[in-house]
Amino acid sequence: MRHTGPVNRRGFIVGAFGVSLATARFVFAQGAAGALVSERQIVDDLVAANLILAAEGVLDAMGHVSVRHPTRPDRYFLARSMAPALVTADDIIEYDLDSMAVTASARNGYLERFIHGETYRARPDVRAVVHCHTPSLIPFASSTVPLRAMYHMAAFVAAGVPVWDIAAAGGVTDLLVRDGKLARSLAGSLGDRATVLMRGHGAVVVADSLPNVVGRSVYLDVNAKAQTQAMALGGVIRGVTPEEAKMRMGDPNEYARAWELWRRKVGK
Ligand SMILES: [Zn+2]
Repeated sequence: MRHTGPVNRRGFIVGAFGVSLATARFVFAQGAAGALVSERQIVDDLVAANLILAAEGVLDAMGHVSVRHPTRPDRYFLARSMAPALVTADDIIEYDLDSMAVTASARNGYLERFIHGETYRARPDVRAVVHCHTPSLIPFASSTVPLRAMYHMAAFVAAGVPVWDIAAAGGVTDLLVRDGKLARSLAGSLGDRATVLMRGHGAVVVADSLPNVVGRSVYLDVNAKAQTQAMALGGVIRGVTPEEAKMRMGDPNEYARAWELWRRKVGK
């Protein structure tokens, strides 16, 4: 259900909003595409991102998506520990980059929230982060077969997708990124790229906005399925070259049309 409350898509106050975070301060910031972005609007977009990623099969009961605070780059928003398909604005918690909650709430956070805090710390350009266990990505996370850019919608893959091995950072673990040390190692493997795979676990995807991180996550899944199908066909795999991928870089609204469609489909 898409609220018609406090802020319309252009950032104007149009009504009242009845949940806890929305009663807090009301701030504006300059968004990636130049539009005014309020704290309420970014929380509303974060709820939509949770519902979309669940509906599109990127996240199931596990996995999470976060967004950097619009005016405080040392903070970010993330849902409490729950299935993404069930997230509402009232479930959103504000964290600092040590992934400690800064809002007065004793609610449980995701165990792996450190992935988000350390990625924002390492990458000032990143404004949204997804951590997922998308099934199509696991064969590439847990083998020596590199993920390749199969088509234009996932051209960012052409920059390379490293595989992070938690054993190199933490020895024998339960494979979960439970602290800042492991998360810093993961962010180091990500480097300046859009995504990193995690051996025996999943992936992290980053972007400069929520629509773009959702778009990248959805099309990373499509791309992985396409590559698996192409490998089953046999023959030589030919996808997007790094030079072609560069021609597609730099559009801040790359997935804007898909974002609008996906929002409509989840009723947001
Ligand atoms: Zn995980």
